[in-house]
Amino acid sequence: MAGQGIKGSLKERGIRLTRQRQILLDLIDVSGRHLDADSLYELARKKDGKLNRVTVYRTLKMLKESGLVDELDLMHLGGDQHYYETRLKQEHAHVICLRCGRVEEFFGEPLQRLRRQIESHFGFNILIARTEVGGYCAHCQTLRAREHSELVEREPSPAGGEHIKRKGRSPHHQTRQEHRS
Ligand SMILES: [Zn+2]
Ligand SMILES: [Zn+2]
Repeated sequence: MAGQGIKGSLKERGIRLTRQRQILLDLIDVSGRHLDADSLYELARKKDGKLNRVTVYRTLKMLKESGLVDELDLMHLGGDQHYYETRLKQEHAHVICLRCGRVEEFFGEPLQRLRRQIESHFGFNILIARTEVGGYCAHCQTLRAREHSELVEREPSPAGGEHIKRKGRSPHHQTRQEHRS
């Protein structure tokens, strides 16, 4: 279904569906995952050994510019890396775990409501909206709580544990370095 939708959109836009475009669109569409350019290149090469990196990157750029795929930052999960997904999917928010990198998709009416509210508030015509939420998934929260309690156990005095809990790790570190220099 989704594949045909994309082919229809291509025809409307007068874009020829070359073999490499077809391969990439299929990969992005069918995987349903958020793949970066390198992963897409690796997967595409398995289907056509002649495909090179430059062609894959150029094709992704073209698909993005023609509005067929979305380019996502996903909270810069992989540094500068971008991720791709089909535009045909219903609008959704990306919920990203900053520890394990798991990406969940939130679909639903609240997003449409937010869109309508923004449009009426600013008299704005929204063409594209991206919602990203970063934090810790349930699994990572458990792991972090365990790591934290292990850290506290290792502290010689309970006061030390309190210290860590209140101040957090990085600001503590920074103050120390400032004092030293
Ligand atoms: Zn996680
Ligand atoms: Zn998505």
